[in-house]
Amino acid sequence: MKKVNGYEVIQVFEQFSPKSLAMEGDKIGLQVGSLNKPVTKVLVALDVLEEVVDEAIEKGVQLIIAHHPPIYRPMGKITPDNASGRIITKLIKHDIAVYAAHSNLDVAKGGVNDLLAEALGLCKTKVLAPTYEDKVVKLAVYVPEADAEKVREAIGNAGAGAIGDYSHCTFSVNGTGRFLPGEATNPHIGVQGRLEAVGEIRIETIFPKSLEKQVLTAMLKAHPYEEVAYDLYPLENKGEELGLGRIGTVNEMSLREFAEHVKQALDVQTVRVVGNLEAKVKKVAVLGGDGGKYFPQAKFRGADVYITGDLYYHTAHDAWLAGLNMIDPGHNVEKVMKSGVAKIMKKRCEEKGFAVEFISSEVHTDPFVFI
Ligand SMILES: [Zn+2]
Repeated sequence: MKKVNGYEVIQVFEQFSPKSLAMEGDKIGLQVGSLNKPVTKVLVALDVLEEVVDEAIEKGVQLIIAHHPPIYRPMGKITPDNASGRIITKLIKHDIAVYAAHSNLDVAKGGVNDLLAEALGLCKTKVLAPTYEDKVVKLAVYVPEADAEKVREAIGNAGAGAIGDYSHCTFSVNGTGRFLPGEATNPHIGVQGRLEAVGEIRIETIFPKSLEKQVLTAMLKAHPYEEVAYDLYPLENKGEELGLGRIGTVNEMSLREFAEHVKQALDVQTVRVVGNLEAKVKKVAVLGGDGGKYFPQAKFRGADVYITGDLYYHTAHDAWLAGLNMIDPGHNVEKVMKSGVAKIMKKRCEEKGFAVEFISSEVHTDPFVFI
């Protein structure tokens, strides 16, 4: 197993939840401490409360990956005399870094909203409110015939050429590459100072922009030339839409039965329900956190019920008047990200042979109790 530092761990995390997916102005990324240090244990938490910091100290963690950024509004001062200052000073004192993934983790495939949809058992799930289009790019690379198969396999394995359920899609055409190696070269084919003509294959493929780095890295690694000739083209083809919330279907049941299902699936004692409890529910929209303002999208997309947290009285009225049923299970249901992210990161880091452990925080951070 390979010993790693914080940067290497976060590099893996950002392949899953890129910063580019975040809403503008969101407070994401490294917030406290440094990633430039060995990391063997990472705590995944929803909130960074003082109890969570104590848990991290007790469990010997060097890095916390949190959904809610502990530094969200400007802090006037950092002093152990108040709660938020105590959290920061404790983290620094114990050399524990905090990395926040907020709206980018909501949008990411396999992130908070997918985890909620999965917990609710939604089928045929789609994005509720698109916020980001993963643009398609085309790669054309020129490879000597003998190495074409190796390069095709490498870029395909890196995710290029995925069209629908097909993978490794490429198009190839034969031609002749010409080059004159200069004095400082060490050519794979040919000699310095002599114009060379080589049978080459132009391999074309497409991939989402988000995979650009990994596809190019794989291509350059598999390619035998010291100077690789390749072109990247931006395309007008529609890229995959990513965004906030998910919408999908469940087996038809009453709103009352569905509300019971939500309580059990999201592990909450109570939910607030808007609408006729005997109404039939089949199409379900869900958006983690405070998503009241997205209720028109849920209505427009034909949802029978919309699940989100922090529902305001007047928003509930508006949804009610619009004929949209709503269920508010609280903001804290985003806790699904703790085990969800730990599981994904464990798998991805294991594949890379990284000696790093991921644990999910056991601290209950819901400030509300129901009596
Ligand atoms: Zn939240």
